[in-house]
Amino acid sequence: MRKSRISAVAAMAAAAALALTGCGGSGDEAGAGDTVKIGIKFDQPGLGFKDGDKFTGFDVDVAKYVANELGFAEDKIEWVSAPSANRETLLETNQVDMILATYSITDSRKERVAFAGPYFVAGQDLLVRTDDSSITGPDTLKGKKLCSVTGSTSAKKVSDTYPGVALVEQGGYADCLGLLETGGIDAVTTDDIILAGLAATEANKGKFKVVGNTFTEELYGVGLNKENTTCEDVNTAITKMIDSGEWEKSLKANTEGTGYTPNAKLNPPTPAPCA
Ligand code: GLU
Repeated sequence: MRKSRISAVAAMAAAAALALTGCGGSGDEAGAGDTVKIGIKFDQPGLGFKDGDKFTGFDVDVAKYVANELGFAEDKIEWVSAPSANRETLLETNQVDMILATYSITDSRKERVAFAGPYFVAGQDLLVRTDDSSITGPDTLKGKKLCSVTGSTSAKKVSDTYPGVALVEQGGYADCLGLLETGGIDAVTTDDIILAGLAATEANKGKFKVVGNTFTEELYGVGLNKENTTCEDVNTAITKMIDSGEWEKSLKANTEGTGYTPNAKLNPPTPAPCA
């Protein structure tokens, strides 16, 4: 990778690896063989998706860009599955160095982990069966069965704000779509970009529609262990990806054919200063 810059990159990789693992003592020196463990979703098409031994999606592209800026070429990335409910623990226990998994920055999560970014802003929405015109927003959900994912802001928003709704929790959003198809539930709720990606897969085409009435702002951050010192470098990498046009290119390519349009007022966002 970029042979002319190899020593600079190696030095950066060493520094970044030390910072990422929070280890600075002697004997912890990072060498050229070091890898970075990145948590992503494996089951969210267009965002984080595992297809055999290939990983695709916007989160994956941002992760690759950031890792590369920190000195880790693509073959030095170990992809780790990071379901919504496991993300804080994965970071706290250093099972991953960073997480890019449609991971909203929230104050309660900040008590356990740190965030760089945001690198994208989504909004919570609803997915229903194509022939359903009764559900047009969260206020039309009374008495309906709604599926979301354990540990997500989406599930929390519903239980906090819409107590009249019967919430069914699953481990991943793809599991919710199976229930929606068979009629076990009436709607799925999470971020609009996730719903659009799931609805557009070959297997799901024509079956579901995104309601298109968002009721939150979800600022996607790069989750880090609190001891991690690379937050500023991650922010610099995100800004570089946006300024270079790569961010837009990736977002377009990964949402193509889904009918999804990112909120242009909120995107691309400016990474917030690291605490
Ligand atoms: N962005 C929301 C969250 O972080 C919902 C999507 C997800 O579960 O990953 O909880």
